[in-house]
Amino acid sequence: MPEPLFDDLYRELILDHYRRPRHRGVLANPTVHVEGMNPVCGDEVRIDITVGGDTLREIAFDGQGCSISQASASMLASEVCGKSIEQTRSLSSAFKAMLVDGALPSALLGDLEALEGVAKFPVRVKCALLPWNVLEKGLNEAANKPEELSIG
Ligand code: ZN
Repeated sequence: MPEPLFDDLYRELILDHYRRPRHRGVLANPTVHVEGMNPVCGDEVRIDITVGGDTLREIAFDGQGCSISQASASMLASEVCGKSIEQTRSLSSAFKAMLVDGALPSALLGDLEALEGVAKFPVRVKCALLPWNVLEKGLNEAANKPEELSIG
């Protein structure tokens, strides 16, 4: 499957996240662990998140697949770590609007704008969205999970 063509600046950013993924690994005591795959491309993404109050305190991802799916997961983790759940959901909506609806990139997106070029390759949009779909599943599961009582 051919790699989408990006302009050089964006290509560098995406490849950098692919080669040196941020937040890669697992968390010791995540609030939730979620997984997803994109069978069209063979991408797999697993995400651990720790939610405290209304903040996404920690995130780690693991997985395998094409450069777009794995770079997207690394960029996602970099952007959402430490954000509120509400901010994270807004970011997810803005990212999907850019890739699925062809909306102009929102100022919220920051470096995620680098993935805008993927919108021209519908097959690869699934790759870029995979980690976001997995994260949303995680946020929903975390919201439905009763907070553990902390002692002390
Ligand atoms: Zn892929």
